[in-house]
Amino acid sequence: MQNKRLNPFKIAQAQLDESVKKLGLAPRIHRLLRKPMREYRLTILVKMDNGRIKRFKGFRIQYNDARGPCKGGIRFHPEETIDTVRALSAWMTWKTALVDIPLGGAKGGVICNPKTMSGGELERLSRGYIRKIFKYIGPERDIPAPDVYTTPQMMAWMMDEYSKLKGYYCPGVITGKPVEIGGSLGRGDATARGGIYTVREAARHLRLNTKNATVAIQGYGNAGSYAAILSREILGCKVVAVSDTKGGIYNPDGFDPHSVLQHKKKTGSVINFPGAKSITNKDILELDVDILCPAALEYVITKQNAPKVKAKIIAELANGPTTPDADKILYNNKVFVIPDFLCNAGGVTVSYFEWVQNLSNFYWELEEVHQRLDKKMTRAFKDTLNMCLKGKVNMRVAAYMVAVSRVARAMELRGW
Ligand code: GLU
Repeated sequence: MQNKRLNPFKIAQAQLDESVKKLGLAPRIHRLLRKPMREYRLTILVKMDNGRIKRFKGFRIQYNDARGPCKGGIRFHPEETIDTVRALSAWMTWKTALVDIPLGGAKGGVICNPKTMSGGELERLSRGYIRKIFKYIGPERDIPAPDVYTTPQMMAWMMDEYSKLKGYYCPGVITGKPVEIGGSLGRGDATARGGIYTVREAARHLRLNTKNATVAIQGYGNAGSYAAILSREILGCKVVAVSDTKGGIYNPDGFDPHSVLQHKKKTGSVINFPGAKSITNKDILELDVDILCPAALEYVITKQNAPKVKAKIIAELANGPTTPDADKILYNNKVFVIPDFLCNAGGVTVSYFEWVQNLSNFYWELEEVHQRLDKKMTRAFKDTLNMCLKGKVNMRVAAYMVAVSRVARAMELRGW
């Protein structure tokens, strides 16, 4: 996942440096904020279906726990690198601080290609990963969750493995579980729903009517497909283009996102959806739409294509989809960017609700989850927008300033 010329961790550090300078934080605090607190490199041995033992490399990085136990997902991806996991663990730290939940930041990853692995192999890998980090995680220590190519079923296996090792049922060790075993109602679409709430607030600020506003979504996984469904359901938008790794589809009259999802489930991709024109993953980013939603991987909006972006709002549901060069171009062109760790914070927010429900063993109605999520996302959006207007900085720098100052304050109070 690491673009050859771009090191995501170096970028994350540069973004941090800029906000630290603006906030005037002490060099001691700055130094602590620049690096992860703890890093684990793992080798996981898995018996494959053909009887052979395969070695997988994995990571768990606990970036900062000044505000509470570490929190963050696990990615299963063939191009995972330690620097990507480092960057993502830093972003989790800023994300939990920005939505003001009492958790820190972490991230995990395994270098593997889940698309070529059987269910049994994925189960053994999931359990093997937990056996390796068992001692370093826990409801009071570090709580993993799903991310790219990891699913609620994998969270179920992981929770089961941890519980077996502990000797009793421990749902609070992992979030994003199926509801039948301690998952929260509303966790499935939480990342997209939270993002849509921030789009609603951005549109309010820009005085943009979202009724029939056009939307293009790159990526039709969990976040992207629910973003399509909810942008229509909550904001009345018209979804005109979507894509996945195999390519994209376009229809100026709009799609029914549910039918596109059915088509993807049946055929494995959104491409060849009846009545739609084909479009490439590159072209989808340059379409003349009101709202553009990158919901796949890092660094898809670069200095090459940023000048061609026509959208009024970019809602970054993916982590790190925009390069720093592109950021400057978008800001000058008055494209309103809802930065990733604000836009996609809905997932971890409902993960936090799930953890709270697990610890109290008392489960909430769906409406309660939605209301509380809306409150958190709206508050975080407003805090960021206020900082953006007050400090005359872009939304990303503003989000950093709000989040980093909260983490720094916790560290100071704890005497670090
Ligand atoms: N992987 C998601 C994220 O990047 C969710 C993390 C969580 O729920 O802990 O925010």
